[in-house]
Amino acid sequence: MIKSVYMEELDAVSYREAISGGERPVLIPVGSIEQHGAHLPLNVDVLLARAVSGAVAAGIGGLVAPSVTYGYKSQQRSGGGNHMVGTTSLDGATMISIARELTTELARHGVRRIVFLNGHFENYQFLYEGVDLAVGALEQRGIADMQVVLLSYWDFVDEETISSLYPQGFPGWDVEHGGVLETSLMLHLHPQHVAMEAVRTEGPATLPKYDRLPARPELTPASGCLSSAAGATAEKGRRLLAAASTSIQEALAAEFQADLAVA
Ligand code: ZN
Ligand code: MN
Repeated sequence: MIKSVYMEELDAVSYREAISGGERPVLIPVGSIEQHGAHLPLNVDVLLARAVSGAVAAGIGGLVAPSVTYGYKSQQRSGGGNHMVGTTSLDGATMISIARELTTELARHGVRRIVFLNGHFENYQFLYEGVDLAVGALEQRGIADMQVVLLSYWDFVDEETISSLYPQGFPGWDVEHGGVLETSLMLHLHPQHVAMEAVRTEGPATLPKYDRLPARPELTPASGCLSSAAGATAEKGRRLLAAASTSIQEALAAEFQADLAVA
C-alpha cells in the first residue's frame, strides 16, 4: 500500500519501492497560469489536471508526479490570449524541454509508463514533441520499453454527459475557457476558490477562424472567459470528474495491458 498517490509526499525509499519494476504508471499533470475571468483563480488548469490525475491514479494504482504549473502561451481563440494580465506563459521550446527532461528523469528512476495529463489546451503539441524526442533518445541508449501516453482530460467526457450538462448546446472545448466545465469542476473540487457572483452571462465568444499576431485585444470578451459559466454547478463537476476519470482509467488499463491494481 502506497502512503500517497502524490509522488512529492513520499520519502525516497517508499518512492523507489513504489516504482520498482517500472510497471506502475506515473502521471504528470500539466497546467498553466492563465486568467480565467473574475470568478476563478489563475491556476485552474493546474488544479484540475492534478485532481483528475489523482482520481485516475487512485483507480489504477498509479502515482502523480508534481504538476507542471506553467504552460504554453494562451491563444486568443482558446484561452483569451497571451496579452491578458495575469496569464504567465512559457515559450514552446521551454515546454518541449520540460516534457523531454521529465520523461528522461522518470526513465532514469526506472519508470517505464508515463502519462502526461494535460489541463491547458495550448500545451498539447509541445508535450508531444518533448516526449517524442525523449523516447527517441532513450531508445538510442537501449531503453526501448517506454510507454508514454499524452491526453487532455476533457476529451474523455462522453457525448451523453456533454448533452446532459449543456442543455442549450455544447459550445466546443476550445471556448470552454472559464466556462461550465472548468467552473463546475472547481465548484466540486475547490469551491472556496470560486466566486459565482462574479460570473458574466454573455454568450460564447465569436472569434475569427484564423489567428492574428499581435492579438487584437478587443476580440477577447471583457470577462476574459470565452463562454459563460452561469450554468455551472458542483453536481455537474462531480459528474464530469467521474466521467473523465473513469474513461481515462479504462483507456490506460487497456493501453498498458496489465493488471494495474497493484496498490
Ligand atoms: Zn483553463
Ligand atoms: Mn488554459
